[in-house]
Amino acid sequence: MSGETLQVYFLGTAGALPTPHRNPSCIMVRRGSDTLIFDCGEGAQQQMMRARTGFGINAVFITHWHADHFLGIFGLIHTLSFNGRTAPLTIYGPEWVHEFVQTIRHVGRFNLNFPIESVELADGSFVRFDGYTVTAFAVSHGITALGYVFEEDARPGRFDRETAIALGVAPGPLFGRLQRGETIPVELEGRQGVVRPSDVMGPPRPGRKIVITGDTRPVPARIATVAQDADLLIHDATYDDAEKDRAAEFYHATAGQAGEAAAAAGALTLALIHVSSRYTDADSHINDAKKNFSGRVIAPQDLDMVEVSFRQ
Ligand SMILES: [Zn+2]
Ligand SMILES: [Zn+2]
Repeated sequence: MSGETLQVYFLGTAGALPTPHRNPSCIMVRRGSDTLIFDCGEGAQQQMMRARTGFGINAVFITHWHADHFLGIFGLIHTLSFNGRTAPLTIYGPEWVHEFVQTIRHVGRFNLNFPIESVELADGSFVRFDGYTVTAFAVSHGITALGYVFEEDARPGRFDRETAIALGVAPGPLFGRLQRGETIPVELEGRQGVVRPSDVMGPPRPGRKIVITGDTRPVPARIATVAQDADLLIHDATYDDAEKDRAAEFYHATAGQAGEAAAAAGALTLALIHVSSRYTDADSHINDAKKNFSGRVIAPQDLDMVEVSFRQ
């Protein structure tokens, strides 16, 4: 089955402070022609230029109101307006999102040519899109902070062409009707009967799932539930395991703790982000995560793109 393309661009992977090689937080998820961004750190718009993603953003989700997660919005909306955008843009986020959007309207002399809307989300809030849902979940970061689950709708089960033919369904448009859930009258060996979708379709297959924790202390029990069977878990890994105490003090996670969360969730791939500027590489992060998680572990560089494919 082909389905929509699903790509994740790591536009900013730095923790708290940018470095010459890492920008503050911004993750872009593109599904088909839809583009969502999760956090919008300073300089995010230039990262979009460098990654050649364009600016066709449908919605912005903010995990929490620390400056490294939202300062890029001001520059981005200025550019969107300058480029002639007229479509409304919705900014979703935890409490204070309305005040933030009010602030945007009052900062400087913005002449925005498109409306900006604000929607406050809390633990369990969800937003429906065409073919997928984004659901917020509470994490532990000292201030109100949310993670997000991006999950596609389940896909229909596999269509068993041979069985359909054996039951007397002529190949052609009837196949499509069965796949859309219709029961089809058939005549087989002179007898009237019907073929139901359940006769020729396998069980529904899950869509793809991406989970973004944002900044958080380890919440493995929580992640085990909301991120169960995630194709891609993008987890706070500000520190390596040598800095466990510091991580707890500043409400962040270590790479090893991110690995524990990924194992608890049964995730396929773990991406370690929000890497502190104290590290010149993420080798120790990868090693620490792998101690606790046997799946694939990556520590994306800025502008890296990961394609998420269907499991089956
Ligand atoms: Zn941060
Ligand atoms: Zn933070």
